[in-house]
Amino acid sequence: MGPSTSRATIEGVSVRVFRTTTRLVTDSDGHAHPGERHTVTRALLTLTDSEGVTGRCLAAEADLGEAQVAGHLRPVLLGRDPSERAALWQELARRQRGSAGTLRDRTLAAVEQALWDLLGHRLGQPVWRLLGGMRDRVPAYGSTMCGDEVPGGLATPEDYAAFAEKLVADGYHAVKLHTWMPPVPFAPSVDMDIRACAAVREAVGPDVPLMLDAHHWYSRADALRLGRALDRLGFLWYEEPMEEYSTQSYRWLADQLDTLVIGPESVEGRLHARAEWIAAGACDILRVGVPTSGGIDPALKSVHLAEAFGMECELHGGGAGTLALLGAVPNSRWYERGLLHPHYDFDEVPPHLTRAADPLDAEGCVRLREEPGLGESYDLDHIEAETVRQW
Ligand code: MG
Repeated sequence: MGPSTSRATIEGVSVRVFRTTTRLVTDSDGHAHPGERHTVTRALLTLTDSEGVTGRCLAAEADLGEAQVAGHLRPVLLGRDPSERAALWQELARRQRGSAGTLRDRTLAAVEQALWDLLGHRLGQPVWRLLGGMRDRVPAYGSTMCGDEVPGGLATPEDYAAFAEKLVADGYHAVKLHTWMPPVPFAPSVDMDIRACAAVREAVGPDVPLMLDAHHWYSRADALRLGRALDRLGFLWYEEPMEEYSTQSYRWLADQLDTLVIGPESVEGRLHARAEWIAAGACDILRVGVPTSGGIDPALKSVHLAEAFGMECELHGGGAGTLALLGAVPNSRWYERGLLHPHYDFDEVPPHLTRAADPLDAEGCVRLREEPGLGESYDLDHIEAETVRQW
């Protein structure tokens, strides 16, 4: 059957919450570390149109709860043309203000990516080609987990150095350190951060691009001292060392450093917050995430915004939607692959997928897939068998 060009309507909006397993554990401050294998739940959103074509996106259960689906997603989506993605997104976004915080950008992002996936399946095209088809592979940087106290893990500057050497040997074009954060007892520590960055630079030599994502609540004075060390060590970028709602603090920092300041990652406000950062001169490289900004289209707007100011816009995190966007824009340089740790096999395929989502090729790049939609390889038999709740 060839690609369908007829009009269709959305007939099904469903969520399956299913069991899968992971070796990632989360500390009290939300940072992931390697641990024992255990069971977790994830949620799969499925949109089905009147011709039986589906679009899917994986998310956390909290972002696809029964109340959100019944109260917002079904009323907006059912009976509508799935290709009217912008109109549907705007209607959901307008509902956010009155939702008392229950309708979040991550929910909008799941819906929006499922709509893209569905369109790709309808047209028989990968989403990155529908978005513009800029390139079919993206160089990856290895992004470490936060520091810990695990022997042979990421407990010392020497651990970071040894791991960075391994990542470069594995083919990564660049390495980003997430250094120590609370609840690690000695964190935050500017001195330890500087020692780790220096050890990594020494280990990989002068030519490998390096980035630092440090403790997010340093004072201006601490952030400047750390940033001046990055200048000496020739780091490429410096990410989120201070509270990002203080735009003026980032302008103050960026004005004084050679190392490129990147942001914002964590502030809400999507495109509008990023326009304010550029206008304030608070960053040298813009940053945006697909799940955190409401989907591929809203993130694309921020990438275009950066392009208009001659800036790069680097995408936060990985995943199929992020990869699709990276395949379609000229001014996002890197794919963030991780989070990585010496004691964690990032390439292990989770039980709910049939293959690794973003394998690294021999040249240290992640390739865009030619199959229709977002190219996720859900094991639907596993997901159905392990379903614990559905709505
Ligand atoms: Mg970050």
